[in-house]
Amino acid sequence: MSPSKKQWAKVVDLNKCLGCQECSVTCKMWWTNREGTARMWWAIVETRPGPGFPRDWEKRTARGELPHPDDYGEAPVLDCSQLQDNFGGRTPKLLPHPVPEFGPNWYEDVGAGKTPSDAWFFYMHISCMHCTDPACVRACPSGAIYKREDGIVLIDQNLCKGFKACILACPYKRIFWNEALRFSEKCILCYPRLEEGKPPMCVLACAGKAIFFGDLNNPQSKVSKLVRQYKVALPLHPEYNTQPNIFYIPPVFTPVKGGTDQKPTDELRIPRAELRRLFGPEVDRAMTVLVEARNAAARGQVSELIEILTSYPTYEL
Ligand code: SF4
Repeated sequence: MSPSKKQWAKVVDLNKCLGCQECSVTCKMWWTNREGTARMWWAIVETRPGPGFPRDWEKRTARGELPHPDDYGEAPVLDCSQLQDNFGGRTPKLLPHPVPEFGPNWYEDVGAGKTPSDAWFFYMHISCMHCTDPACVRACPSGAIYKREDGIVLIDQNLCKGFKACILACPYKRIFWNEALRFSEKCILCYPRLEEGKPPMCVLACAGKAIFFGDLNNPQSKVSKLVRQYKVALPLHPEYNTQPNIFYIPPVFTPVKGGTDQKPTDELRIPRAELRRLFGPEVDRAMTVLVEARNAAARGQVSELIEILTSYPTYEL
């Protein structure tokens, strides 16, 4: 596939993500608040460690399997008439029906390790990566998926025949099946908004200002500088070989482990092996660059990298 002239890209700073789910909920209200989309979350914040959403998607990819419908969780209903009963003096109770056994970000804040010495978790925004070499495009037997001039990958739902080959092929499992309308759907990177000169909703809504957005092929853009100049923003699972266009600043400015006397040590809580598993071996160099830039800024030296990471707005259109 020939590279597009423009390539919209996101850089997610995992040091700034609050896990507030503003991006997820805003995307849901904007795009998937309609028939057949109840269990569909085009953008979601996963908590790591955890099985992600859809559940265990990395394991499904490794095994070459489609996610099971249960991996998307239930869409429970809250019956607010129960609250009215409470005014009658009954036991306060407002439970979802059916009581869900799994759902998006089900493992939020479960974490790993032991409190207080080495407990850890972090949040990770994820959506379709609008890959430069998209596996979904290659896999679709109907030719229904295509990559635009600006790098956005879209599904033509008039052409989708429902083979689900794209859902199987996408290694990040970011394509969803609409059971009611019987076609595949995915993040459209808010292209109608972009065409009006407005940023994607997830970028605009992000309370932590953790998502940078711009043209990766413009060397002056913040996303290009973070990815290509400073090389501190890395693709998730680069071994999937689809050249994804969401990049992640690894979580390096996080709490350190406590020693036997519970005093802070120099050792990061998040295991380096887990970060290498997610972002590849480049994560070591990226983390060194980030720490050196932070230390330089702390000494009063000008650091363009730190200025970019703390800048606002986070989008350039
Ligand atoms: Fe296609 Fe998946 Fe890449 Fe999105 S993340 S472009 S759905 S292969």
